[in-house]
Amino acid sequence: MTYRIVNGMLICDVPDTAGVSDEVINQIAKNTANTMDKNRSPQKILEDTIRGKKAEYAIEKYIEKNFSNEIEYVSYDKIRNDNYTCHAPFDGLFISKKTPATVKNNLIDRILKEVMDDKPYGRLSIGLRNDMVDAGIFTFEIKSSELKNGDPKLSDYEGITDLYTRKQEDYEKIANNILAKWDFFIFPHYCRKSNDIFSFFDYVEFIRNNSEKFGLTSAKDYYSFLEPLIHGEFDNASEIQTRIFFDNYTNELYIPGYTHKMAFFIGVPTLTRMMGKVSGSTLYFTRSINMCRWSFENMPRNNALWSYDRNKVYSQLYYNHTNELICPHCGDYVKPGMYGYYCSQGKNCNMKISYYFGSSLDNEVVEKLLKGKTAEFTKNNETIILTPSIKYNVFKGDLQYIWVEKKKEF
Ligand SMILES: [Zn+2]
Repeated sequence: MTYRIVNGMLICDVPDTAGVSDEVINQIAKNTANTMDKNRSPQKILEDTIRGKKAEYAIEKYIEKNFSNEIEYVSYDKIRNDNYTCHAPFDGLFISKKTPATVKNNLIDRILKEVMDDKPYGRLSIGLRNDMVDAGIFTFEIKSSELKNGDPKLSDYEGITDLYTRKQEDYEKIANNILAKWDFFIFPHYCRKSNDIFSFFDYVEFIRNNSEKFGLTSAKDYYSFLEPLIHGEFDNASEIQTRIFFDNYTNELYIPGYTHKMAFFIGVPTLTRMMGKVSGSTLYFTRSINMCRWSFENMPRNNALWSYDRNKVYSQLYYNHTNELICPHCGDYVKPGMYGYYCSQGKNCNMKISYYFGSSLDNEVVEKLLKGKTAEFTKNNETIILTPSIKYNVFKGDLQYIWVEKKKEF
């Protein structure tokens, strides 16, 4: 396989093979149908499974081809022994070649045992997850999507003259369109679907009000509950997250890079609801790809990953600094300026912190939101309650981020 690198993004043809037999694909798809998703048809699940495996295969081959002395990628489907009866706890493992084989094999044995002991959920304990990280073994999750050719202003193909052929500048345009528009995402641990949750604020309150059911200690208020909640989310998530985009016109893949789960929980977590009919009430944590990605091109030299210190990152998680003003979109600092507060990343981030649909917000309101509280403001004699979460909005063909209004969907 050959890979083109454009702006740190890997681009390659969709592999001919998914790297596993049709028998295995059928088994995975069948199990997905049974345990996970009631909305998709069996045919769609099968297609998604093949697509996901091809995306994984493209990454596996890239690592093998370029970094075989430094990193090993192990697909979960190559080590599992549950006969596809349990949910997979991750897609694969990135393992440092410095990790001794005995340590690696011992940890893999523990993974397989824990999955079987937790049939059919296949969850891993925090203790095991921590031991893996400390040994240089990182769990990995891939989400696959298709590039969209919708509204011309927001299309992933904006600026391309011919949809079916690509010149170098076309690759650059598509790569930049992806970075401008898309987020990495991670599914919440405690609650993945709800018709009543519209923001991180709602999420915290919902879990707090049902804390016993979720195995968490109850806490008096929103703030004191952030610590156990964010710890739970953080500890149970796979370490490395990526997202792969399929170009259906040319049968190519775009791999923008990867991020670490810490990107979602340093700074005010952003919780969004999936748009679209099928998955209308699915919740997920998001962070802009452009703001937190690392390129696969430099993976062996990424010290932030290989020298990752769990305890140091705990002290940086959002609940430790709810008094600081942090951008809810990218996690960078927010600074006062001429007309209210601004994200330090400026146009790179595009979060309009001091505005809501063109109405300017008082500093007092903005500060409350940035500190994770709801805040009220009045517009045309109407009181609007904003929550400390953001989501996409499309205005006159432009993509923007706005504060989420309480209990009201866009
Ligand atoms: Zn920002």
